Amino acid sequence: MAKFIFITGGVISSLGKGITSASIGRILEARGLKVSFLKFDPYINVDPGTMNPYQHGEVYVTEDGAETDLDLGHYERFTSALMSKVNNVTSGQVYFSVISRERKGDYLGKTIQVIPHITDEIKERIKKVADTSEADVIIVEIGGTVGDIESLPFLEAARQFRLDLGYENVIYIHVTLVPYIKTSDELKTKPTQHSVGTLREIGIQPDILICRTEKPLTNEIKEKISLFCNVQKEAVIEASDVETIYQVPLIFKNQILDEIILSHFKIICRASNLSIWEGKVVNPILSSKKKIRIALVGKYVSLRDSYKSIYEAIIHAGIANDTEVEAKPIDSELLDKKDNIKILKEMRGILVPGGFGYRGIEGKIKAIKFARENKLPFLGLCLGMQCAVIEFARDVLGFKEANSTEFNPKTRYPVICLLEEQSKIKELGGTMRLGSYPCRIKKNSLAFKIYRRSLIYERHRHRYEFNNNYRKIFEKKGMVFSGIYPKKNLVEIIELKEHPFFIAVQFHPEFKSKPDRPHPLFREFIKAALSDNLRQDNRR
Ligand code: GLN
Repeated sequence: MAKFIFITGGVISSLGKGITSASIGRILEARGLKVSFLKFDPYINVDPGTMNPYQHGEVYVTEDGAETDLDLGHYERFTSALMSKVNNVTSGQVYFSVISRERKGDYLGKTIQVIPHITDEIKERIKKVADTSEADVIIVEIGGTVGDIESLPFLEAARQFRLDLGYENVIYIHVTLVPYIKTSDELKTKPTQHSVGTLREIGIQPDILICRTEKPLTNEIKEKISLFCNVQKEAVIEASDVETIYQVPLIFKNQILDEIILSHFKIICRASNLSIWEGKVVNPILSSKKKIRIALVGKYVSLRDSYKSIYEAIIHAGIANDTEVEAKPIDSELLDKKDNIKILKEMRGILVPGGFGYRGIEGKIKAIKFARENKLPFLGLCLGMQCAVIEFARDVLGFKEANSTEFNPKTRYPVICLLEEQSKIKELGGTMRLGSYPCRIKKNSLAFKIYRRSLIYERHRHRYEFNNNYRKIFEKKGMVFSGIYPKKNLVEIIELKEHPFFIAVQFHPEFKSKPDRPHPLFREFIKAALSDNLRQDNRR
């Protein structure tokens, strides 16, 4: 039978519960255990797919096409667990299935209540992860902050879980804040005491506390937290700010968090092995000497979380190239204004990410034109590929009004458009081309040089496609369609013959990049940016 770890958060949001959960997964995997995860999100939306990135951050897409919380990205990057639609559950989904069952008459005339019907459904969802993953340990992260009204049913289900399964099969970990007060030069434990107090009112006594802090926790502080929160002193774990999130598993391991968890579960397993993680991921980040800057030209740039997986994939590519890469976010709307394009001159590469809607499009197109004309390395992702197609049509083919029908449904040159099957769909939620699809790669192309194979699988999240009616004329003028989804003959990868590194893809490679296994597209993009750096230096 699987063991269960519940992770809750206290005091404030954004304490890094996702990274904590992922890091715990990592240190348990390092002991030879199989782990899986479940993220509960207490909002009413069925999934984050219809939410604005400013509300929610990135929507992370799984192999099976679920649109999920970005924490699932951390889980996949830190461990070998593969996430799917069972690994992210929202209040909306829970209520939706209970209400649907009620309408069918499944409850035989009973009054449907939060306890037991909603909490039972929540517990079922946890068991489903255990059943489908066959993992030894399931890490359940409860979104929100303890004290929120919305997360109460999830906490109640977590409380019942230990009652159902027994003490030694369930662990409660609470992530909390120990703030440093500058004027008195002191760390304060009161917010943690209150937060644990709130958790106890619900009936949960945490077994382990992960204390986020700017300054090291002194022995005295640990003793105080232990006493007031009723947690063993060894189980008061210090999580101080780190240079890279990938250090967190090492910090936990140094405080024998894995041992504390395993002895509670009464599991005996092999010694920890984090040497690759330390040697091939963390040390290279901390010691990289070279530094380059690339531009990330998007429209949700003021919130880093909107492009979470992209920033991470760039860090991974930096590791592979022994380089610190600064991905400078540039608001594409600003590029559309006179003279602002100059800022791109300082960049060694340009990346245009995915997105929806017309705002900011013209600026992205300008950035792509700049990359194409100045032979600057360019990587386009999803909407970034669609914009590269529009730019080429307008500037190289002379179709001045070329556009995607997403932005101008009546355009004379619909180079990007909807497939017949998509145009019939009216609902917005969960109706895009989602999840993993195969892509066949043309030999002798840049894509083939990058992937070194002819069949790849990548994840998708989009509605619009390259319009195949234009394929010949694009090819004639030097665009190469180097990746195709064979079943429907859809364009997946484009590149330019007369350019050292210009490649754009209809899918989202960022979702499959890991720190110890950087995605080849990002790795080669950064490599090209580095050689462009040399070229620039020689020119000077
Ligand atoms: N808006 C575009 C589409 O729906 C691109 C989507 C994306 O970049 N994820 O096809």
